[in-house]
Amino acid sequence: MFCSSCGNKLKESDNFCSSCGQKSTKNTIKTDFKEKLETFEFSSNILLGGNILTPDRLVITDNEVIYKKRNKYLIGVDESSIPFSRISSIEIDRKLIDSDILIYSTGNQQLKVEDFSVGDAKKIKKIIESRLQS
Ligand SMILES: [Zn+2]
Repeated sequence: MFCSSCGNKLKESDNFCSSCGQKSTKNTIKTDFKEKLETFEFSSNILLGGNILTPDRLVITDNEVIYKKRNKYLIGVDESSIPFSRISSIEIDRKLIDSDILIYSTGNQQLKVEDFSVGDAKKIKKIIESRLQS
């Protein structure tokens, strides 16, 4: 095994090149395996217009965004999801006291996530955008 950076001969047990400090290939391959990403869950802003019994929830898993929205009869929830592979962009529509989050997909699907706090909306956007890049 040789260093991928400087060509120095390495031992199988070496994690780093003793000459230039480059990570050994063996180790690089190991880190190529995608770590399982944390799941995040946000609730709509129950004090600012959301329903106090069943707040809408937005769940960000390692591969998709799931929006669980109370239906108009307040019995059960409607659930919709978009995989990260289909998300094209995300926007925050800031209203007077809270925010809607608009998630656009490459298909015709668009997810409008309503009544989340401005702080949560920013966090949600940041998390989703970081996962779109990976
Ligand atoms: Zn090296």
